[in-house]
Amino acid sequence: MVQGDKLHSDVLVIGAGMAGITCARALAGAGQSVMVLDKGRGIGGRIATRRVALPAGEVSFDHGAQYVNPRDAGFARELEQAGAALWQDGADAPHLVGAPGMTALARAMAAGLDIRQSCEVTALVQARDGWQVSTAQGVFLAPRVIVTIPAPQVAGLLGADHPLVEGVAALRMQPCLTLMAAFPPDSPRPFMHRYDTAHPLAWIAQNSSKPARSAVATTWVAQAGADWSAAHLELTPDQIAAELLPLLCDAIGADPRHATYASAHRWRYARVAQPLGQPFLHSADRSLYLGGDWCLGARVEDAWASGRAIARAILGQAHVG
Ligand SMILES: Cc1cc2nc3c(=O)[nH]c(=O)nc-3n(C[C@H](O)[C@H](O)[C@H](O)COP(=O)(O)OP(=O)(O)OC[C@H]3O[C@@H](n4cnc5c(N)ncnc54)[C@H](O)[C@@H]3O)c2cc1C
Repeated sequence: MVQGDKLHSDVLVIGAGMAGITCARALAGAGQSVMVLDKGRGIGGRIATRRVALPAGEVSFDHGAQYVNPRDAGFARELEQAGAALWQDGADAPHLVGAPGMTALARAMAAGLDIRQSCEVTALVQARDGWQVSTAQGVFLAPRVIVTIPAPQVAGLLGADHPLVEGVAALRMQPCLTLMAAFPPDSPRPFMHRYDTAHPLAWIAQNSSKPARSAVATTWVAQAGADWSAAHLELTPDQIAAELLPLLCDAIGADPRHATYASAHRWRYARVAQPLGQPFLHSADRSLYLGGDWCLGARVEDAWASGRAIARAILGQAHVG
């Protein structure tokens, strides 16, 4: 709804990651008018898939969350409805992934929501008629705002002296530098994934072994450990890729000269070191809520649980959805 020159809704959710999507769809499902604003070009936040056109055809890389292993039955049900597929490597219990990429899960769960992408929120001001949310796409107005961005970025929106910022100021989120690399289809494939915190590349996944991925290349996603990432955080993406590609090749027995693609992504706020320990924070008048994975842990399910808890609190009922 347009009110004056401002777009108005019952609730504005800032962030279209798992926390924001979960909260928004529960509130919208209960009949509230909800608008979601995200600065990214895609939906999903740290559930992210990069598509790349190679001469042999298109490939994709899940360069954020790798998989989910739901514990809560409600989360498992929502993932199933979102089309989650099994990634089976024969050794571990199978993991759930999106198909053809992890973002498919977020997109399916966000279906039907009013989401404004490439819409960075630059300021939040509480006025007499509600919250005024400033973005490059104009000013949005709502009586209630839910902020689901990484904790270290909250102060930048609310101002360092906002009472809620005190609750998140001490939270630290560790970075993760991530390499995406492609090789010819017949290149070495010694494992589907490897987790080794003693190695600079703590996690290595054969991305193309996940279901419904392109077979035109063997693709790998490799994540540097928290210490390595922190020590190399300010390198450029090209420099990060140049550092990590030889490490990956050493681990999988491939020749770096055979790589048909190599690129890096810097996640400055990948995983909370020590979570808040409660599912959300809210202002005294309950018009402003802060949530996200960092409230409860460092996994997609923690973001889902935070978003669900905020919706339940707002709707004031035991069960949502
Ligand atoms: C490399 C990596 C690997 C991971 N692997 C796994 C895994 O295998 N399994 C697992 O369960 N979890 C994994 N995680 C963690 C998981 O991705 C997160 O826990 C979860 O996705 C966080 O969801 P969220 O909604 O809390 O936050 P986010 O996904 O970060 O969403 C926040 C959103 O807010 C938006 N935003 C930020 N600032 C603004 C602003 N000013 N204006 C508008 N929008 C803004 C961002 O664009 C983003 O979309 C991984 C994370 C990383 C980085």
